[in-house]
Amino acid sequence: MKEDDGVTRRDFLNGVPLVIGAALVAPWAEGLGLDDANVADYPPAKTGLRGTHDGAWETMHARVAGQIWPAGLPEEQYDLVVVGGGISGLAAARFYRKREPRASVLILDNHDDFGGHAKRNEFTIDGQTRIGYGGTESIDTPSAYSKEARQTLIDIGIDTAKFYEAFDQTLYASLGLGKAIQFDAENFGKRTLVTGYGKRPWSEFAAMAPLNDRARQDFVRIQTETVDYLPGLTREERYEKLRRISYETFLRDYCKVAPQLLELWRKWGISFWCVGIDEIPCTSIHDYDGGMPGLDHTLPRYGHRGDEPYIFHFPDGNASVARLLVRALVPSAMPGSTMEDVVTARADYAVLDVAGAPVRIRLNSTAVHVKHAPGDRAVDVTYVTKGKAHTVRGARCILACYNGAIPYLCPELPDAQKQGLAYGVKVPLTYTKVLVRNWRPFAELKTDFVYYTKDFYKQVELDYPVSLGGYKRSQTPDEPMVLHMCYVHHGSGHKGKELWREGRRRLLTTPFEVFEFHVRDQLSQSLASAGFDADRDIKGITVNRWPHGYAYSPGLLWEPDYPSEEAKPWVVGRKPFGRLTIANSDAGARADTNGAISEAFRAVEEAFRS
Ligand SMILES: Cc1cc2nc3c(=O)[nH]c(=O)nc-3n(C[C@H](O)[C@H](O)[C@H](O)COP(=O)(O)OP(=O)(O)OC[C@H]3O[C@@H](n4cnc5c(N)ncnc54)[C@H](O)[C@@H]3O)c2cc1C
Repeated sequence: MKEDDGVTRRDFLNGVPLVIGAALVAPWAEGLGLDDANVADYPPAKTGLRGTHDGAWETMHARVAGQIWPAGLPEEQYDLVVVGGGISGLAAARFYRKREPRASVLILDNHDDFGGHAKRNEFTIDGQTRIGYGGTESIDTPSAYSKEARQTLIDIGIDTAKFYEAFDQTLYASLGLGKAIQFDAENFGKRTLVTGYGKRPWSEFAAMAPLNDRARQDFVRIQTETVDYLPGLTREERYEKLRRISYETFLRDYCKVAPQLLELWRKWGISFWCVGIDEIPCTSIHDYDGGMPGLDHTLPRYGHRGDEPYIFHFPDGNASVARLLVRALVPSAMPGSTMEDVVTARADYAVLDVAGAPVRIRLNSTAVHVKHAPGDRAVDVTYVTKGKAHTVRGARCILACYNGAIPYLCPELPDAQKQGLAYGVKVPLTYTKVLVRNWRPFAELKTDFVYYTKDFYKQVELDYPVSLGGYKRSQTPDEPMVLHMCYVHHGSGHKGKELWREGRRRLLTTPFEVFEFHVRDQLSQSLASAGFDADRDIKGITVNRWPHGYAYSPGLLWEPDYPSEEAKPWVVGRKPFGRLTIANSDAGARADTNGAISEAFRAVEEAFRS
């Protein structure tokens, strides 16, 4: 970790600032309502390194490295064993019990909290709880959800129309806030924050930006011109051409912009695709973020969300979808009955796994071996918890974990299927949540989002302004807020899948202090001029690292064309095998909640056909 720019260090203990030299039973813990016992039993309130926290990944990595836990005699029997307690696994359990209401179900997950990527982060400050999303953030474009996924949302109590009321779509605009760019020194000469991207006239923004003369002229040109760079081609022809051309190539060779501008937009879409613009085809990025410079008149946008705004957001993101699924499966674990009261409900983790209950959710339990029992009428699942292996038997098993893990879990699968499962590399990324005392510096700088051209975190943004049930959004800039910062590894010379494998290695070996350093450094870079003081203003940090993040999706430059749907590797990979079926968003090669639920539905239907 490097320290520079005068950013002083202050130690954090599990993500909460600790005054150096303070006694171990620190007064801050009480002040923030974080009594140790509370936090230990209540995963959403844990700070520090979360997401795939230490203790969750080591067993499966040991399995991949060759360690074997032989199946023992089954200690318990269920109608269904589900591996993976994310939205897909929880939805699979629910679909199964809709088909067979008396079925007994065990769900295993390696984390200390349910929900998979859909995780809740809680902070307490001045007696108030502030909630953040640790991963899966929004129900994106619910109108595009499959029939089954849409019905699932309704069945668990979600009325998406209520978000039009709950999400304040005008708050930040009414305060005059907009996007800012923090330019880096390496590409632009000096670290400079320029506010008002898309709000100020482009010539004014360019005049303030540390661009060279050619880049400044090109910036204004490309933002204002109405040029069709592929004249004479039909829409289909241009689509065909542009899906083979990266956005970088388009900017450089068609729009002929100065090289400095390539560095300006290089990481613009990295939180979504997790690669730079050299690997994103124009046809994928052209609809992103309201449209990308230069493309609009060459490939008019369709607007992938249609008329639907991006507002379908619970304060803890889609963790509330997971929590409502848990309420449907284990009602006593999630008090309440509405989509409003789930926001403030405190989950009772002690009743998730109770003997005799029809559905049991067993956390901190990593499946290591899944095999048909003798006679092929059941499946034995061996899992490890607290270092000890146990075997349970299910009349059926649904694997709602990661495609890449399945060949190690089920060596009996055919080789072609294992290859199909191994094809898609999961995409690593990190959502860091930063509790700040107030967001006054953002308001003063007229900024709700800062894009960093080359720093560790790609962006920092204010929280989505959502008030639902008893939970009220931060009402004024003087109130505390949970900021969102996104980190995606980039720039080590790796590309595509190798970049993601390298990103995963780095995520699992980067200590909390490095994340903390960059939080402090980047917030100070951008906000210090408006009075931000990292020591004083940061009140907690939760780093949700997702080494196995987004499902692999086939929208990038290198993806080949397939002769048929059946030839796609993920379709080959998800075939039913005896009494095993495969759910999870990986199975649909789509990183979204719609995919997670739809694949669960398919896996359950297949289970009943087997
Ligand atoms: C940071 C981030 C932001 C996202 N934002 C959005 C968004 O805004 N909207 C959206 O629709 N989607 C979003 N997604 C995509 C998200 O992956 C899906 O929406 C959905 O949550 C995936 O659910 P899942 O159950 O398929 O997978 P997961 O959530 O990955 O759940 C699978 C579970 O299986 C567990 N598991 C794996 N191996 C084993 C094993 N051997 N034993 C036991 N358990 C195991 C995993 O640890 C995990 O808990 C986001 C993803 C990430 C990472």
